[in-house]
Amino acid sequence: MSEPCANPAAFAGSSVSSDASGSAAHEEPTPHTSHDVLAGIDGGESAVPRGHDLVSHEESGEAMPAAFSERDLRFMKLAQAAAEQARAAGEVPVGAVLVRGDEVIATGFNHPIAAHDPSAHAEMVALRAAAQALENYRLPGCELYVTLEPCLMCAGAIMHARIARVVFGARDPKTGACGSVVDAFADPQLNHHTTVVGGALESECSAALKSFFADRRRAVRAARDAARGAAGSDELR
Ligand code: ZN
Repeated sequence: MSEPCANPAAFAGSSVSSDASGSAAHEEPTPHTSHDVLAGIDGGESAVPRGHDLVSHEESGEAMPAAFSERDLRFMKLAQAAAEQARAAGEVPVGAVLVRGDEVIATGFNHPIAAHDPSAHAEMVALRAAAQALENYRLPGCELYVTLEPCLMCAGAIMHARIARVVFGARDPKTGACGSVVDAFADPQLNHHTTVVGGALESECSAALKSFFADRRRAVRAARDAARGAAGSDELR
């Protein structure tokens, strides 16, 4: 996502929950507690669905009302790893993972700059790869995990793909289309397939974006200072 789509300065607030479908393939998180929340991305337990091992945000140190299953957190961790691929490529670090049951169908990371493609958001990349992998433009029964609240473009693609459930991390108060700016999924005339839940590992997802922009601001300042220094030395000569 481009910078305007992911301004970290305003990341804050509570989670977003939009449930307009009533037909999601997976149950909603319900308040519960568990102590082995972040037991690792794989840790040898990835083969076992853990949909009932839920943890509250209060217990994990985040003042959030929503709760997420250990399975949700595991897949969000994978999305965070994908986001780091975007960071390594110099792109705004947003990552997505598309799963069916416990099977990872596709991952994607944000790279519109390198691709010269305004649609190369993490969600779009993952949706395209999953559709290719399953040889189907519809992806019913699949879930999408993404580190940042989807924008309108991605929300539209998610609906067209008939994704059953979306779990996102950080809110995007600039272009978030899951409740932050608009809630594209709330209108049953538009959406009756997708359940959306926000705030999974929200603090970590938000911190990753903030650190990216902080680093970039530092680099810009350093370049500017270096340019000034060079100009100054030129004048001295
Ligand atoms: Zn998007």
